[in-house]
Amino acid sequence: MHIETDVVHGGQHPDKVTGALSPPIYQTSTFAFRDADHGARLFKDEEEGHIYTRISNPNIDLLASKMALLESAEAGSVFASGLAAIFNTVVSVAKSGEHIVSDDTIYGGTFTLLKEIMPTLGIEVTFVDATDLNKLFDTINDRTRMLFIETPANPTLKIIDIGECAKLARDKSVSLCVDNTFATPCLQRPIELGADIVLHSATKYLSGHGDIIGGVVVGKKDFNKRLWDKGKEIGASISPFNAWLILRGLKTLAVRMERHCFNAFKIANYLAKHKKIEQVYYPGLSIHRGHDLAKRQMSAFGGMIGFDVKGGKEAGKVLMNSVELCTLAVSLGDVDTLIEHPASMTHSTYNEEELRACGIGFGYVRLSVGLEYADDLIDDLEQALAKI
Ligand SMILES: *Cc1c(COP(=O)(O)O)cnc(C)c1O
Repeated sequence: MHIETDVVHGGQHPDKVTGALSPPIYQTSTFAFRDADHGARLFKDEEEGHIYTRISNPNIDLLASKMALLESAEAGSVFASGLAAIFNTVVSVAKSGEHIVSDDTIYGGTFTLLKEIMPTLGIEVTFVDATDLNKLFDTINDRTRMLFIETPANPTLKIIDIGECAKLARDKSVSLCVDNTFATPCLQRPIELGADIVLHSATKYLSGHGDIIGGVVVGKKDFNKRLWDKGKEIGASISPFNAWLILRGLKTLAVRMERHCFNAFKIANYLAKHKKIEQVYYPGLSIHRGHDLAKRQMSAFGGMIGFDVKGGKEAGKVLMNSVELCTLAVSLGDVDTLIEHPASMTHSTYNEEELRACGIGFGYVRLSVGLEYADDLIDDLEQALAKI
């Protein structure tokens, strides 16, 4: 089936008992055993069934298998947040004394997790520009277990060649993990391009309505078993209701992404012509450095735009303080259009040198284009830019 059909029907069937088309919410901590032997068998993995919601729950399992289907993966696991998904992934592939290579342009929270927290567990992390394949090759050593990339990258929308990274990772016997939050499986399926692990902040496009925090990881069956053997003990499990909300959000993912892409393309073209804008970063513009690559590995260019305002940080501030329809807030992939300043907000964990190295300027503004009518958003940006 096509993904437009899979987001609606994939893995879902009417409830066996009541016929309910929408899955019932299993808002329960624990599950009653038929008898003592049944409980013991469940704990020994000799029989399938639910024990306790930190370990498994029907809503969470349905979301995990649906995401595996959408990403062409064998299996998946769901976590309380995107960062919990990344933490559990890293500690499942690497242990103390081992090494991770990450692209230098990643979500600020992930950057801190890898740069500050992982070394306290003895896991060393090297940051490198993964578009430079020679440098990337040299950075991987015999203790390296994983290569981590985001593409399009948060917040600069840098595009990294997933297929080339996968080849390199295979040659060096390390896993390639792609954070697919910006693209979603509707626009890009990294596993089909050779990646081993794909993860998401489900907080963003997957749920789509800005009302929950969640994370998803998918990959091979044996990796997923290792991941969840640890994950259920680390305990960053999602609530059944949040899993249910993500499942509901997924039903409209394909149509939402179409509109996000349509609006973003229109706004990127508007901004590119605006005299108060220095530069626009949108993979769908032919001037974007990664445009040709994005055309090859993505089916459309997404709903995220970055731009440098002429006049730097102060001009950017005037813009962000003057918008009326767009909301000044972090997060992304929401129905509502959100505008923010990465250097002082989502990526404030980067120091000045690190910001410069990955090209996040002080006048750089990030726009998560929502589902409003594009011309209404353009009118709002127009009146706000006029105040600069
Ligand atoms: C938001 C985000 C994360 C972190 O996800 P949370 O759900 O906030 O924990 C990870 N990666 C990317 C690309 C993000 O945008």
